[in-house]
Amino acid sequence: MLQTPSRRDGQPSRRFKFAIVGSGFAGLAAAIRIKQSGDDDFIVLERAADLGGVWRDNRYPGCACDVESHLYSLSFAPNPNWSHEFSAQPEILAYLRRRAQEAGVLSRINFSTEVRRMTWVESAGEWSIDTSQGSYKARFVFVAAGSLSNPSIPNLRDLESFRGQVLHSGAWPEDADLSGKSVAVIGTGASAVQLIPKIQPIVARLHIFQRSAPWVMPRHDAPISKHKQEEYRRHPRRLQLERGKLYVRHEILAFAFRHPIVMRMGQRHTIKHMHGAISDPRLREKLTPNYTQGCKRILFSNDYYPTLTRPNVELIAAEATGVTPQGIVGDDGIERKVDIIICATGFNVKDPPYAHYIFGTEGQSLANAWAGSPKTFAGTTVHGFPNLFLLNGPNVGLAHTSVILMIETQVEHALSAIRYADRSGRMIVEPRADAQARFTSWIDRQMRGTVWTTGGCKSWYLDGTGRNSALWPSYTFTFRSRVAKARRADYEIRGPQYSPALASRP
Ligand code: NAP
Repeated sequence: MLQTPSRRDGQPSRRFKFAIVGSGFAGLAAAIRIKQSGDDDFIVLERAADLGGVWRDNRYPGCACDVESHLYSLSFAPNPNWSHEFSAQPEILAYLRRRAQEAGVLSRINFSTEVRRMTWVESAGEWSIDTSQGSYKARFVFVAAGSLSNPSIPNLRDLESFRGQVLHSGAWPEDADLSGKSVAVIGTGASAVQLIPKIQPIVARLHIFQRSAPWVMPRHDAPISKHKQEEYRRHPRRLQLERGKLYVRHEILAFAFRHPIVMRMGQRHTIKHMHGAISDPRLREKLTPNYTQGCKRILFSNDYYPTLTRPNVELIAAEATGVTPQGIVGDDGIERKVDIIICATGFNVKDPPYAHYIFGTEGQSLANAWAGSPKTFAGTTVHGFPNLFLLNGPNVGLAHTSVILMIETQVEHALSAIRYADRSGRMIVEPRADAQARFTSWIDRQMRGTVWTTGGCKSWYLDGTGRNSALWPSYTFTFRSRVAKARRADYEIRGPQYSPALASRP
């Protein structure tokens, strides 16, 4: 376990200019950028005993990224050594650990430190942070707690009566042993289609509960040769060029999400991919989605469909609704006897846990202020919650490319807004209510006509009010041009005059 990092004077301290909550991609990007900007006065608060966020927690068999690694990596920390076009979870986690170490931010992470409450103190111009390891104060807080970090367990009748084991893909135990077992998988999302082909050969029986059929496209993975890796090490420009090519290819896809007619034209190829692996007409029918491709996340796999044809696999087109002591029941009313239930049922995205422990200027929680439908300025700041920067939160999710592009832009936005406060000598920076209202209505207008709102599905992208408050509705270069540099006019700068003496208060 690491010690509480000490500040400039070498004495342990609990007051920092920056606190970063979470040490996944977003938290580390913020920490590295702050350090690179020459500011060393920061702490990272991490509830787990290791860094990595989703790439630490999602250890299920087959877990990998479905965006190419040369794009799904930090632009300022490229990795010439990626072994595959699409890397697997252990390699991504190793990349994050190495980059944190190299950038000198590993020693700034307080592990096993769970944030329990954050309260804004207007008179001091700072956040008071209560954690499982005592309290901290910080002028600026980056919330990088992740939007896919709290597993969602389905509402199964009599769940506590089940005598077998219940696992979740997002909290996979290292000692999970499925060999020879009868297993049910609930869900057919991104995690399930990676997990299912890996466990099918070792389990005795596999029952898959599919509530809605996903669109599954081919996955064009391949190893990256040693020769190519060496080339990237020697010629970083070639690596940049490769990243640029991938970037453009993915941005073109955004056009289809914005114009569902294009998306529908592409469906024929996806159906062909399914028919290539599945010849049974009844299975084909079960696997044909009843909504427009892209309305829910598009999945990529070459082995998912073939796996469904194996003799020990049953695809059940039903919702899992309950359990018995020795089995699982779907809304088809049939009980299947199983030893293990795997919930590949995703995450609690609509009501992020952090929104319940952050209290702003009026003493209201972020969850109360949002009232079930998150609204932000620039996807990053919230009126009523000064000096707070949400990374990878509402309306910055992506369906077409690497979310790391968004996170990096958000960090730039935050640092440029903070510079306004620093330059003016004031402690507080807060987005104006009218700027936030304009941004929100722009998002809502852009969302109209997209596949997410017209595609005829019920996805976790839509909140309880029917708004898509999860995704960015456009291209990542649009986000960059609108957001990377904060505009002074969109922020109010106020509060106590900053002086170095304030920083050394007890
Ligand atoms: P998900 O996309 O939310 O999928 C959850 C699945 O569980 C859906 O198929 C859902 O059905 C189903 N489900 C929930 N309750 C059910 C029930 N009672 N009975 C039957 N089915 C039920 O979750 P996920 O697959 O973990 O993926 C979450 C997100 O993680 C993804 O969207 C993606 O952003 C990320 N992810 C990324 C990668 C990657 O390669 N980069 C890999 C894995 C995950 P419905 O569709 O009917 O709701």
